[in-house]
Amino acid sequence: MKGCKFPVKSKEHTYKTFTDKQNKLQADKFALVPFNKRIVLAPHCMRNIPMCCAIDKGGYYICSQCGGCKINIISKLVKELGYKALYVVKGGRTIEKIVKEQNPEAIVGIACFFEGDQAFKMLKDKKIAIHFVPLTKDGCTATDTDLAEVERVLKQTN
Ligand code: SF4
Repeated sequence: MKGCKFPVKSKEHTYKTFTDKQNKLQADKFALVPFNKRIVLAPHCMRNIPMCCAIDKGGYYICSQCGGCKINIISKLVKELGYKALYVVKGGRTIEKIVKEQNPEAIVGIACFFEGDQAFKMLKDKKIAIHFVPLTKDGCTATDTDLAEVERVLKQTN
């Protein structure tokens, strides 16, 4: 989500191994959480900045569904399924604040491997089931993720 300091490839492999393992460990717990007790965190770098009219809330944005990026489709699905909320976050520090305010039982986090690794570690003492979906193209702007994988995770139930 912060994402501008690129870790070297070997580090990325370490982050990937760790996040894959965490996803597997938390999969059953995640699937048991009802949709209305889950939130979604998407990274601000996925926005289509020239088009984006998301509402700036300080540490995060609320997507206005302008259709400019994939967050639009994710946002629509999140609403259809009855998720608690979707936040387009600007950085890791905001996550703690959102968690404190919303008290979710599960989080779907879309981020680069580095940020995913950090989020798992940051929230390890909380009783929250996390499912991480990696970016398929990272960087500071115009990042991307696998929409089919996001949809699969969002719809996951036991
Ligand atoms: S769909 Fe949402 S996040 Fe994406 S560019 Fe539009 S307002 Fe911004």
